[in-house]
Amino acid sequence: MEYKKVILPAAKNIALVAHDNKKQDIVAWCKKHRADLAGHTLYATGTTGLIIEKETGLPINKLISGPLGGDQQVGSLITEGKIDFLIFLWDPFEPMPHDPDVKALLRIAAVWNIPIACNQISADFLVASPLFNAECERGVPDYESYMAKRAQLPTSV
Ligand code: PGA
Repeated sequence: MEYKKVILPAAKNIALVAHDNKKQDIVAWCKKHRADLAGHTLYATGTTGLIIEKETGLPINKLISGPLGGDQQVGSLITEGKIDFLIFLWDPFEPMPHDPDVKALLRIAAVWNIPIACNQISADFLVASPLFNAECERGVPDYESYMAKRAQLPTSV
């Protein structure tokens, strides 16, 4: 895979996702970092977004609830370059009906090289980084060169 550089903007599009046993954790984390988060555009899966908005007053673009496809929606927005930062407090102790979607979201976040935290302390470290409120470069798959190679695949038998 060839990579190219894109700009991760100072004002980021941040997706917040928390499994049910982690809802209190994400609310506490959002309250702790409320001032920092206010400078960014926030997205969340349905229930996570509803609860964060209610508890913190932060405006949240609410996507579909996770078990109904919200994790996949976040993944889809990452591929479109519309989400560039992910806080994903998934629950390591509970099997979920949407476990395949969880795995898919983690894979897509790795493919598109976005900053991601899966627990509170990592999320604290991300916010503490000088890059949190600054523009920086991010390497992403070079889709045009990828497709140019795909166009060379043999088509006749
Ligand atoms: P929810 O979805 O925010 O709608 O609870 C999160 C998830 O379970 O992935």
